[in-house]
Amino acid sequence: MTSLDAPLAVLGLGAAGSSALWRAAARGVDVVGFEQHTPGHPHGSSHGHSRLFRTALVEGPQYVGLARHAQRLWRELEQASGSELLTLCGGVFLGPENGRLLPPILETIQAHDLPHERLTTTQIRSTYPQHTIDEGTIGVLDPGTGVVRAEAGIQAAVRAAVGLGAQVRTGERILAVEPGEHGVEVRSTGPDGERTWQFGRVIIAAGAWTPALLPELTVPMQPRRTLLTWFGTPDADRFGPDRFGVFLHEADGYLAWGAPALEGHGVKVGLHDLPVPDVADPSGNPLEVDPAEWAEVARWVARRLPELDAQDVRAEGCMYTGTPDEAFSIGIPAAYPGVVLAAACSGHGFKHATAVGDVAAALALDEEPPVDLAPFSPDRFG
Ligand SMILES: Cc1cc2nc3c(=O)[nH]c(=O)nc-3n(C[C@H](O)[C@H](O)[C@H](O)COP(=O)(O)OP(=O)(O)OC[C@H]3O[C@@H](n4cnc5c(N)ncnc54)[C@H](O)[C@@H]3O)c2cc1C
Repeated sequence: MTSLDAPLAVLGLGAAGSSALWRAAARGVDVVGFEQHTPGHPHGSSHGHSRLFRTALVEGPQYVGLARHAQRLWRELEQASGSELLTLCGGVFLGPENGRLLPPILETIQAHDLPHERLTTTQIRSTYPQHTIDEGTIGVLDPGTGVVRAEAGIQAAVRAAVGLGAQVRTGERILAVEPGEHGVEVRSTGPDGERTWQFGRVIIAAGAWTPALLPELTVPMQPRRTLLTWFGTPDADRFGPDRFGVFLHEADGYLAWGAPALEGHGVKVGLHDLPVPDVADPSGNPLEVDPAEWAEVARWVARRLPELDAQDVRAEGCMYTGTPDEAFSIGIPAAYPGVVLAAACSGHGFKHATAVGDVAAALALDEEPPVDLAPFSPDRFG
């Protein structure tokens, strides 16, 4: 006969897990969080200072409920932490009228009646002269777009959780998750050596490491190496949140995304569909980047944002965890009845992290989740 260590544990304290810990603690439950590194570390998917926050989502109208819920919770976390985490500076989406960027964004805007403004080619050129655009490019302005602080957000959520009574075990790696006498048995190794734990339920928010912990999942999850690249600017104000903001730009065969120069960081630019290699072992994905990896991004920047210094580049390796439909996987998988999966997969999960954590905490405590999770079922592939 073993004893119950706590009714709930959260495995992995990155973007989704730190929020799940906070939201579970806010519900008054005894919860233990496990992280193999320390919250805000650079070895997963959530480092690099900032992530884009968007409400008029190219990913589809089904994400707007999550984004709105996430925005409310980012604000609540700002109150709890006393620091600015989400800056809604607005953003501009640029591309051909019938390309692959603007039609899905306009569908989302229409479905949720979101505030926006359309810009002609001439208006874009006068309002955003920093961009070089093709003739016929149109723009959509979204005031609900901005930047969310990455490491600061994770650390704020963990601090808020601890303040509400959560326990946190850092430097503790989960080795196995199995059915247990009280629900779920978890084996870990950390500063005190190997240990076996008994929990009622666990929330698994292990990002790129999820398939290793849950090999029977029917949703295929493949980590891929991606890059974070910042470009130097001679005028941080001209490329700052107020005058440049966030952008998405479909041009030259790519969907490019970018965040303004902020808090000493240069302008962050990425190419969403740059071919990226699979990562066989997420623990072996190097932070260091070979310049050949960012050469194509620099060429795009030289063409489309010519005032930036395409040779003044800072780059870090990172990971997306892709699913075949690039959708999240949130819910209780049929193969793991004691587990709530909180996988904000693909390249767009950070903004939603507070909401993903909150719905995961709700599911773990048998509450009705505040957002429709049907599109994100972990069993949608089998
Ligand atoms: C280059 C890049 C740009 C992006 N841009 C955006 C953007 O603009 N907007 C946006 O919304 N999203 C963006 N994303 C996506 C977003 O960053 C991810 O969706 C999000 O960070 C994923 O969070 P996560 O909690 O699932 O994973 P992570 O934050 O990686 O968390 C998983 C955690 O689990 C821990 N862990 C794993 N296994 C174990 C174990 N066995 N034991 C203990 N701990 C364990 C890990 O150490 C890690 O801390 C981007 C991603 C990348 C890579």
